[in-house]
Amino acid sequence: MTHLQLLLNVHGEQMQFLLFLTLFILGWYIENIAGVFSNQKKWLHSFVNAPFMFTNLPGQILLGFAFVKTIKWDSLHSFGFLYHLPGQKNALMYFLIAFVFLDLGEYIYHVIMHKFRNLWKFHMIHHSDTILDVSTTLREHPAESIIRLLFTLLWVLLSGTAFWALMLRQIIQVVTTLFAHINYRLPDKLDKFVGIVFITPNLHQVHHHYKKPYTDCNYGDVLSIWDRLFGTFKRLDAKELVFGVDSYLPRDSKGKFISLLMDPFRRYKKIPWKA
Ligand SMILES: [Zn+2]
Ligand SMILES: [Zn+2]
Repeated sequence: MTHLQLLLNVHGEQMQFLLFLTLFILGWYIENIAGVFSNQKKWLHSFVNAPFMFTNLPGQILLGFAFVKTIKWDSLHSFGFLYHLPGQKNALMYFLIAFVFLDLGEYIYHVIMHKFRNLWKFHMIHHSDTILDVSTTLREHPAESIIRLLFTLLWVLLSGTAFWALMLRQIIQVVTTLFAHINYRLPDKLDKFVGIVFITPNLHQVHHHYKKPYTDCNYGDVLSIWDRLFGTFKRLDAKELVFGVDSYLPRDSKGKFISLLMDPFRRYKKIPWKA
């Protein structure tokens, strides 16, 4: 086992948290200097989104144990296709294959959350943000957080991904998820280049546009290749973008944290489903 693999096995989760905190502060400053979309009540907006960090924590800790157990079980039984790959001693190749497979899993998961009405009710809380900035990264209903982790757990079980590879993938995901939600846009030429393979802020902003078909595009997590492959890749000019969901009814929700937690369980006058 290399030094990096050992480090990730022992300190992976702490590294993720510290990285998130550092990048969150950095992203906040970039937004202050180079923010593209008007965000006058930034602190107030962040106070609505920040508590999700705490409501999601218990589920994340519990499922953290499930990940450790699953990975140990996989290792004991050599279960998962990664155990049967030729040349799996090459750590870089091993990681690339695991990374691409887990990223495909995130794409499928995201499509499912949009296509099934009862799941969309939870995922809609993330989309209901009418301002997009680094704090939107935190805005995930605790039920969705558990569903997402269970889905990743299944993907880890099937692949036999090692703990260090999962941690490294999560660290990369922390960087890209924060970057995707930042109130900033890459210059067009650079965006076109980076967007060939990766999801950029410009691309994820299209996913947060309030209207279909744009809400149902650019599902990719780290890689944009799945959207290109499955025909869900779209671009939209910054001046056309309006964040939120067209079927979200502000009159039924006060847009406050507790209200957002309860929203998936509300009896809406009009069912919150996309037009
Ligand atoms: Zn979505
Ligand atoms: Zn998002």
